[in-house]
Amino acid sequence: MVRLHRCVVIGAGVLGASVAARLAETGMHVTLMEAGQPGRGTSRWSFAWVNSNDKGPRPYHDLNHAGLRAWARLAPALDGAAWYRPAGNLEVAASAAGRAELAARVRRLTGWGYPARLIDAAEAAQIEHALRPPGPDAMTAWFPDEAYLLTEPLIERLIARAAAHGATLLAGEQGRVTGLDAAPGRAPTVRTAGGAVLAADQVVCCAGRWTPGLAALAGAAGTVPLVAWNTPGSPAPALVVRAGPVTPAAPVRLLHAPGIFLRPHPGGLLHLEAPDTPVDLHTPEAELRHRADELLRRARRTVRGLDEARVVAYQVCVRPLPADEVSIVGRLPGAGWLYVAVTHSGVTLAAHLSRHIAAELVSGEPSAELAPYRPDRFAGDGYPCSREVIGRGLPAPDVRRDS
Ligand SMILES: Cc1cc2nc3c(=O)[nH]c(=O)nc-3n(C[C@H](O)[C@H](O)[C@H](O)COP(=O)(O)OP(=O)(O)OC[C@H]3O[C@@H](n4cnc5c(N)ncnc54)[C@H](O)[C@@H]3O)c2cc1C
Repeated sequence: MVRLHRCVVIGAGVLGASVAARLAETGMHVTLMEAGQPGRGTSRWSFAWVNSNDKGPRPYHDLNHAGLRAWARLAPALDGAAWYRPAGNLEVAASAAGRAELAARVRRLTGWGYPARLIDAAEAAQIEHALRPPGPDAMTAWFPDEAYLLTEPLIERLIARAAAHGATLLAGEQGRVTGLDAAPGRAPTVRTAGGAVLAADQVVCCAGRWTPGLAALAGAAGTVPLVAWNTPGSPAPALVVRAGPVTPAAPVRLLHAPGIFLRPHPGGLLHLEAPDTPVDLHTPEAELRHRADELLRRARRTVRGLDEARVVAYQVCVRPLPADEVSIVGRLPGAGWLYVAVTHSGVTLAAHLSRHIAAELVSGEPSAELAPYRPDRFAGDGYPCSREVIGRGLPAPDVRRDS
């Protein structure tokens, strides 16, 4: 096969691995660069719920809904048994406000052609045997097409697919990008901590929360505004807990109940998160441990099978949160040779976004579906964000040094 272009993809999380696999399949000569180990960034600890359950506005809902379908299509061709879990999602609301919001959401989603319905307690118990009966006033909804992904085996398979099409993975110091340049009329160059200099026709940055630092290296500081994740009180970090063992009847569904979100995790564990656990990268260890135990107590109140369970692992994990909360995908103003893709909901979106990104890079034709997500929407100060943002007033944290 003739190698048409040399393409460097920075970051081997779920998004970069997906983009690398798609580009390699087209015949591009792909080098995937990873500062640590593949799949060990945000993707590793993600709840990894594939959904468009509460995403707005409508075009962003549609983008995420397309994300669900893209994983369902890819799974049979990529050993989906190892990573694709089309388990469906149950949501329980208890308060009056919660019930009203859930009923309105189910109505809206149904109107948008998204499978969702309210169910009674008997059907909820049939769908999820481990669910403790919610109170008599509770309302339950069922979202049958939603899924979760096991990101580590998925990313392994995406990288193996890229490699089968000729891609090279550089990881650790060999893969840590420390310089990005493009002299006029010359191919962009990518420098690594290992001292290598790679020339490329295309450079795609999928470095998740570290993307603003890489944009700054390319001389485009401030063009990728993410919610500042390393300041005290930032909303970007979240506490993730893994607990087990679960016996005898482990839950099989995704479950959202008051104060607790959970899903099965390999090794007989549950993955737990909560909507209201205010932690950040400065929270003391003892407080994290205390909050992790509290999540397990909430899970016990929601599902059976956790009598013997203990907290096995916990981690503060950081969402890459664009300032206006929707994806940033495309060429950077002021450094058009650098294409970036950074998003929350990256697990939901990676299969679908990567198909569009590869098509744009190969054909040069802009994708109409990606038009609302271009980085140039942040030019000027008019975009909506009331939070502290990297690149506007706050410097980007240094490019990734840890693994
Ligand atoms: C608690 C939590 C729950 C979430 N739940 C969901 C959910 O239910 N559903 C959903 O769709 N999304 C969810 N998300 C968001 C989702 O996990 C992320 O959007 C997604 O994992 C981002 O993937 P990524 O590949 O862009 O980034 P990452 O997985 O962070 O990968 C980026 C990679 O870039 C590498 N890198 C950084 N700097 C450099 C450099 N200089 N050189 C080379 N490599 C570099 C990093 O080492 C890293 O491996 C959640 C996030 C969190 C934190």
